[in-house]
Amino acid sequence: MDLGIKGKVALVTAASQGLGKAVALQLAAEGAKVAICSRNQEILDEAVHKIKTETGGTIQDYVCDVTDENGVKNMIEDIVDDFGSIDILVCNAGGPPAGSALDFNLNDYRKALELNLLSTINLCNLAVPIMQKESWGRIIVITSVSVKQPIDTLALSNTARAGVTGYIKSLSNLIAKDGITVNAICPGYTKTKRVENLANAFEANGNGTIEDFYSKLENDIPMKRIGTTREFGQTVAFLASQGAGYITGVSLQVDGGYIKSLF
Ligand code: NAD
Repeated sequence: MDLGIKGKVALVTAASQGLGKAVALQLAAEGAKVAICSRNQEILDEAVHKIKTETGGTIQDYVCDVTDENGVKNMIEDIVDDFGSIDILVCNAGGPPAGSALDFNLNDYRKALELNLLSTINLCNLAVPIMQKESWGRIIVITSVSVKQPIDTLALSNTARAGVTGYIKSLSNLIAKDGITVNAICPGYTKTKRVENLANAFEANGNGTIEDFYSKLENDIPMKRIGTTREFGQTVAFLASQGAGYITGVSLQVDGGYIKSLF
């Protein structure tokens, strides 16, 4: 199936590894010109090399911390200078530390909001006017299943991502008339460094072994396995496609059935 995004310019943030990297790879494989960022040049170089080798596509890296308001502004200007536009924006960032609601002080909550909520708002504020000029755009924000079924041990994530979900629904309603769709993708447990870190924290906190962590998870998932980054990347690529042009304002879970609610 041709997704119709050959030649479109995509920015995927926090994409040197994990879900972001898988999304960048899939978009490059579909013929988009892809810009990726993260904070570490060396890891970015490895990601660019892998994506170029696997797809033969156009990919360019930018060192940028998504919480640095001016750094993000400069990066967006550089991408427009280098590629002429931004048609597809995939907002991603690292996940905040694990812990329950009373484990954190106000500053911890502030940092989580900076990382996951305010970074998204900043990116959208900067990219939307560029998309409006073209009367076409796709914004996809990576959130979490925790927006539909909060996870007791991820209170910072539950809190920040609920804000993101409210924000993207507000934004999607506002700019649908401009040909721009805005959606969230809610990953369930997917095999990345983030999940490895959660497994290590589970063991370090005396909750059981790493094997216990994975078998408990898999038991809670109707498909009885955690997801692959490839499955995740392919879903994001679909939402970026021409064919997904009438889908906006949704939070779509990619979770093997993990969320138990109706919506
Ligand atoms: P990961 O830790 O494997 O990768 C995170 C990426 O973000 C890395 O490339 C890292 O360098 C980059 N990054 C982190 N902070 C950044 C910053 N301030 N500025 C720029 N780049 C930054 O994580 P992942 O598993 O790929 O998860 C991506 C997002 O999805 C996270 O927010 C995570 O909490 C969320 N999520 C992941 C899962 C999962 O199972 N993997 C499930 C639900 C939600």
